[in-house]
Amino acid sequence: MSQSAVRLAVSPVLALCVLLAAAPVGGADVPSVRALTILHTNDLHGHLLPFSYPDVEDETSPIAKMEATRDIGGAARIATLVSRIRAEEPDRVLLLDAGDVLDGTPFSVYHRGKADVAAMNAIGYDAMVAGNHEFNVTFEELVDLVETAAFPILCANARILEGDPDLFADPLLIERDGIRIGLFGVTTPASAAYPACVDRIEILDPIETARGMIPRLRKQGAELVLALTHLGASGDRELAEAVPEIDVIVGGHSHTRVEEPILVRPPGAERPVRIVHAFQWGGELGRLDLAIEAAGPGRAVVSTAHRSLLPVTSALREDPDVAALVERFLEPMLPIYGVRIGEAAGDFANVGFERATVNLVADAMRAASGAEIALQNYGGVRESIFSGPIRMWEIASMLPFDNRIVVVEMSGARLREVLASEREFLGFSGLEVVWRDHDPIQVRHEGEEIRDDRIYRVATNDYIHDKMFGDLPIVAETEELQRETVAAFIRAEGTISPVRDGRTRLAGD
Ligand SMILES: [Zn+2]
Repeated sequence: MSQSAVRLAVSPVLALCVLLAAAPVGGADVPSVRALTILHTNDLHGHLLPFSYPDVEDETSPIAKMEATRDIGGAARIATLVSRIRAEEPDRVLLLDAGDVLDGTPFSVYHRGKADVAAMNAIGYDAMVAGNHEFNVTFEELVDLVETAAFPILCANARILEGDPDLFADPLLIERDGIRIGLFGVTTPASAAYPACVDRIEILDPIETARGMIPRLRKQGAELVLALTHLGASGDRELAEAVPEIDVIVGGHSHTRVEEPILVRPPGAERPVRIVHAFQWGGELGRLDLAIEAAGPGRAVVSTAHRSLLPVTSALREDPDVAALVERFLEPMLPIYGVRIGEAAGDFANVGFERATVNLVADAMRAASGAEIALQNYGGVRESIFSGPIRMWEIASMLPFDNRIVVVEMSGARLREVLASEREFLGFSGLEVVWRDHDPIQVRHEGEEIRDDRIYRVATNDYIHDKMFGDLPIVAETEELQRETVAAFIRAEGTISPVRDGRTRLAGD
């Protein structure tokens, strides 16, 4: 029996409940202590199939703390784990997702979130909140996605300006183990910039919205209040400080691995607000077991909490129905994404300060465009490529966004500014940069410090162009998507090796 199975077999909260329930509690029908098991995922980003993380050098990385890092996750295994826990804790489980199922693997590119939502229907999610990436489609695609979901998609701070005002579900009152739980969802204001929101959806202040939810849910009879959020860990802290009436926040967005609940107790508050997140991609299932006590008429409080992050490994048998469903969505994709492009002679780990993945993308962009310099944001490169055959699947997982390559002419002075503003999260080709305190103190091109008054031909993706120097006219651009350019580069090379040549480094390293 695996370690995780042992942990699952004995729920400490359940044990506590059994003990307390055996004690005389004044003859009431309702036991004085009830139990709630919250299971949660966040930032799944299209990871319907198992995946692996690369080895990490940095011990502070959340990956370094995980029990299992290879061949983990997958919707069909999560389904098995959830069913098992539901059987062990009948009527006590709430299964929640804190947003960003979209944008990651080719599933997202091809099915626009519908494959993920179909799998979540089959697993039996109780609710999710829309993350910013759920808005990275057209408004019509978003409507389609929400209608595909058999569970409520919450987003109380989204105001529909044009279209069905009731697109998102109203706050919920859910009963588990006799506890009336009020549940609402709020998303990050950053969502407003995504395509589905432009001109159609206004994103209101999440804290103001949450404040308004409390009396509304109390009036409906909520004894306990849960917030399902996509605000990031710091946004959740601010929310907890501002709205201490919330009992538990289940969050996402910052890809934070919360091993023990983050406790926030604003001055004067009787109890802390508990915040949990489950890192990303469903490599672990978040679990929070709560013992709930009555606290006056119509109110309840969390008396004890037990936290675990359950590894989703190959030790879990795949749920056959969910596996078949994923297979059905995968099949039409294989003619595109199953095509073999080339071979990786080593692991291209998408972690650390200098990344072989980012270098690969930037080198390919520079070669294809003929520019002197290429710039690539770290955030646009998502997954590692492992040693072995490279298919279009790996390339699209590394570059899930539909970006194109553009070329501009830029002065050396502006280039320095661009690097300084994006700090060391901008990768490149054709440059060597030394950083101190996030400042580029040395910026070399072909062995010489760049000249402020010289004009350089710089390639980047259209996202970075729009975001950072949209005022500079495009002098050349590609028809094809960036990932197609990178695929052509790999195809021409045949076999590629990871490059980490110290082009970006900290002063003194
Ligand atoms: Zn997000």
